[in-house]
Amino acid sequence: MFIANSPDYQEILRTIYDEVRPLLSQGKVASYIPQLSKVSPQQFGMAIFCLDGRQFSIGSAGVKFSLQSVTKLFALALAFSREGDAIWTRVGREPSGNPFNSLVQLEYERGKPRNPFINAGALVINDILSSRFVQSDIAILQFARLLADQPDIDFDVTVAQSERETAHRNYAIAHLMKDFGNLHNPVKTVIDSYCRQCSITMTCAELAKAGSFLAQHGTIPWSGQQILDASSAKRLNALMLTCGTYDAAGDFAYRVGLPAKSGVGGGILALVPGELAVAVWSPGLDPTGNSLAGTYALERFTTLTARSIF
Ligand code: GLN
Repeated sequence: MFIANSPDYQEILRTIYDEVRPLLSQGKVASYIPQLSKVSPQQFGMAIFCLDGRQFSIGSAGVKFSLQSVTKLFALALAFSREGDAIWTRVGREPSGNPFNSLVQLEYERGKPRNPFINAGALVINDILSSRFVQSDIAILQFARLLADQPDIDFDVTVAQSERETAHRNYAIAHLMKDFGNLHNPVKTVIDSYCRQCSITMTCAELAKAGSFLAQHGTIPWSGQQILDASSAKRLNALMLTCGTYDAAGDFAYRVGLPAKSGVGGGILALVPGELAVAVWSPGLDPTGNSLAGTYALERFTTLTARSIF
């Protein structure tokens, strides 16, 4: 199908795939969650979901991977859709300038995390959902299934178990917030749910589709179902831009120029508001915890398509 002024996305994906190959051996797979260290870093997939329904993909775009922190976006969207601005009494909206699992700021900012995309903030969001739903992990999973239009999306229980067994830092964060009164449910309840949330797997094609409502001003493009009002969707996009790629968000905005959310499984979801969602996966990470080849692929994507929010 020829669409006026639309780049040839399939050709651009082919070009990017060729260009990223030399980078696939350069990133380091996350090893602090033992199960994630078993994934081969040589993999790369990328998928585009256009709001007009066209879809494009390349490489391992059909392979499931561990979403990890990308799920923080879905958990936040669910909490924001239910609780609205009330969530901001519990978590801030500023970049942290610290690693995603850091404890230092929490102590002197009295247990209120900087934003919902660092681990502390995601634990608070999970806590908010745990107060609202009988099982917050199931609520997030069902929400992800709805967004991706894919009922077989699921947890990876082996990854969840592996993270739970080594979640010392997240336990420390949760206990500190509990001490400050910013965690209402038992620490163990929240950590267990959070680890299951992070273990959700999707393919790049599913992830691009699942994120597309945020490019379409909060409304699912194929069903017309409104998840968030346009203003709330705009705000989540803003948070993705300023906080979605950990303390590399400034550099990511400079290089890529799109709102995005990354995870240590090597996935990144990025949005071209009003046009498309694009997901990329390559498990080798750079020192900030973002996919090395994935970030480069998105940098090339916005350059080759002349798409960016700037
Ligand atoms: N489950 C991971 C953790 O809590 C997610 C981190 C990430 O993807 N940045 O450490």
